[in-house]
Amino acid sequence: MNLGKKRWQNYIDGQWRDPAGGDWIPIEDPATTEVVLEAPRGQKADIDEAVHAARRAIDSRAVYEIAPHDRMILLLKVASELRKMVDEIAPVIVAENGKSISFARDEVEDAARYFEYYAGLAGKLHGRQIPLGEGFLDYTQLVPMGVIGVIIPWNFPLELAGRDLAPALACGNAVVVKSPELCPISLCYLAIACERAGLPKGYYNVVCGFGHEAGEALASHDGIDQVVFTGSIETGKRVAANAAKSLIPCVLELGGKGAGIVYPDADLDAVAHSAGIGIYAFAGQVCSAGSRLIVHKSVEKALTEKLVAWVGKRTMGPGTEDHFFTPLISRPQRDKAEAFCVSAVEAGGRAVIGGKHPEKLKGYYLEPTIIAGVGPDSKIAQNEVFGPVLTMLTFDTPEEALKIANGTDYGLTAGVYTKDLKLAHWTADRLQAGSVYVNKWFAGGMEAPFGGFKKSGFGRVKSVDALAHFYQVRNVAIKL
Ligand code: NAD
Repeated sequence: MNLGKKRWQNYIDGQWRDPAGGDWIPIEDPATTEVVLEAPRGQKADIDEAVHAARRAIDSRAVYEIAPHDRMILLLKVASELRKMVDEIAPVIVAENGKSISFARDEVEDAARYFEYYAGLAGKLHGRQIPLGEGFLDYTQLVPMGVIGVIIPWNFPLELAGRDLAPALACGNAVVVKSPELCPISLCYLAIACERAGLPKGYYNVVCGFGHEAGEALASHDGIDQVVFTGSIETGKRVAANAAKSLIPCVLELGGKGAGIVYPDADLDAVAHSAGIGIYAFAGQVCSAGSRLIVHKSVEKALTEKLVAWVGKRTMGPGTEDHFFTPLISRPQRDKAEAFCVSAVEAGGRAVIGGKHPEKLKGYYLEPTIIAGVGPDSKIAQNEVFGPVLTMLTFDTPEEALKIANGTDYGLTAGVYTKDLKLAHWTADRLQAGSVYVNKWFAGGMEAPFGGFKKSGFGRVKSVDALAHFYQVRNVAIKL
């Protein structure tokens, strides 16, 4: 596939710039293990420039003062410019990220839709007038937070950047994005879309670099007003600690260990399909993946057979050929996921299918895996594998199922499969998760809030709820 230009730059203050240190990061195609692109290795100096550019943008009030209708049009234009480039962006996403071309096209579409969704809200953000008695006029304003530092992981970079940039701009903020070092280039296309849409300079800046360099510099920068971090729990703790040193508020969108509870009355064909998508789409490298299936003992055998058959109908290979089972992002990520499977088997578990990498394919593949015969407290049932690895657990009573589902540090997503709506609600009401899917994993959309309970983070993205992180309330009290 034609990937266009090979070497990219940072986008700061409306200009493409080489990294201050003059170094570049090679970007590997996980399906071929070949270097296909080069991204700038941004460091503190680049982050400084980007933050200062964003601050100048905020001080200019350029987006804040755009009439609400025009701000809506601006965001719609970003969406439209992204869509126009889908044939250029999708192959780049496949090459740097490994996902299938269909999923890559979906990612561009989803990013565009975030801009449309928040475009619709841009003109509906307003304060209120508060009666204070005779002689006073009191009103509130929703004021932009200012400069937002956004740190993005590699699994859905464009979509996640759209998820944060669109509400940030709708509220009038300026943004500095630290793109993920494994998979940064789609965020450069977002800069092109913003520029073509007419976004004033300095409102979207993107610096690529490593987490311990550019990421650390952004999260601990005195010149930002808010950090929005998406990534792992470990990094989230570090980001929050660094931000706390300058008292910068954080939104943390972290990992998950999603559990789907399957009651005996569930439609097992539908469960097999839903659970298969839930864990194997994009090789399980999804924060909201359903990586544990907690199955009533009476249906475990039947459901396992259906899942194995479901897997058998799908093929493994490069995203360019639109296979369903695509590679993991990198060798360390694949080896880590495989090591989880090996140690689960060594500890007495059973790989019903998979558990190892295929010998015949060159890229970073791992066979779709089902691990059974392990306990809910086992390593594989407790930790985020971030690979195509499903852990099957069993239960006798709903109370036991809930205890297992809620028995990890995570609380991002959970699910229930049953035809009994009362039981579904009873269960949903007790699941410690920010999103509960009933009878369909990944149900929901950008219109519904998303975020973690427990260690899966705090704050909400998507929906109107996300806007609350991007403005602050000013009260104006006037003595008449
Ligand atoms: P990661 O935590 O390793 O990295 C995420 C980002 O943080 C990257 O851009 C990285 O360069 C940067 N980073 C690393 N160290 C840093 C530091 N010291 N300071 C500042 N930034 C730093 O995560 P990852 O491997 O890229 O992504 C996978 C993780 O992200 C999984 O845990 C997944 O569940 C989670 N995730 C969560 C959501 C959500 O919405 N909750 C969405 C996608 C991914």
